[in-house]
This record gives sequence, C-alpha cells and structure tokens, in this order.
Amino acid sequence: MATIFSRIIAGEIPCYKVAENDHYFAFLDINPLAKGHTLVVPKCETDYIFDLDDQTLAGMTIFAKQIAEKLQKMTGCKKVAMVVLGLEVPHAHIHLIPMNTESDVDFRKEKLKLTPEEFSEIAQALRG
Ligand code: 5GP
Repeated sequence: MATIFSRIIAGEIPCYKVAENDHYFAFLDINPLAKGHTLVVPKCETDYIFDLDDQTLAGMTIFAKQIAEKLQKMTGCKKVAMVVLGLEVPHAHIHLIPMNTESDVDFRKEKLKLTPEEFSEIAQALRG
C-alpha cells in the first residue's frame, strides 16, 4: 500500500506544497514545530533514508538546501534545522525547521495550530 507521503505526492491527499521537481517533493508539516516547518521527501518510496542510493540522497540534501535558504529569508531565523527522525511514516523524510534556539526543535513540544489561511500564506511565500 502507498505511504501517506506517496498519496500526498500523487495529489490524492491535499497538502500545502512548497516545492517539487522530478525526484523530490516538499510540503508543510501539518503539525509544525515552527512556522514554515517543511517536510522534504523523495518521490521514490523508501522507508529508511540511508537505504536511498547515494545520488538520490545527495540530491535530496541539495533540494532541501534550496528550501532552507528560502525559509531563512522568510522567517529571519538564525538557522534552519535539518532533522531526520521518527518511525511514524515509512517514507524517508527530512524535517526543515526554522530555529532561533535549540528548544525550537524539541519534538515533545506542543505543535502550532495554524489556520488553513496561515498554511497557504506560508507555502505561497516559499514557492515564490
Ligand atoms: P516522523 O516520522 O518524522 O516522526 O513524523 C512524520 C511527520 O509527518 C510528523 O511531523 C507529522 O506531523 C507529519 N505528517 C504525518 N501525516 C501527515 C499528513 O498527512 N500531512 C502532512 N502535511 N504532514 C503529515
């Protein structure tokens, strides 16, 4: 069965898309730790990120970097954290999280509740 991220990529499940090319897809995390919290995924369905072939993994990092630059510009954050963790979705993904302190990247923290309008506005700004 397709993962939830493959179904998002296929357009079967809605998302706030940030960027896409032939190999990768980026969209806003629905439970963000910070405004702009983005997930970067490969279009190929692989669970564990280090099972990706070298070229796909390297390309994914470069794709993430381009989004991180936009996130930093948009939010004015000190850095953008790049985090890989979790067992929730069996589809490799990188979290990009604007951060000013290390506690901004504490996954035990309560997540932000953003309105659909706020999500759309952020995604649009990142696509621009
Ligand atoms: P992890 O496996 O990295 O712990 O968590 C997966 C991440 O995917 C979580 O941060 C969760 O909020 C996000 N996520 C799970 N399902 C969906 C979804 O359907 N849409 C979006 N936009 N994000 C999701």
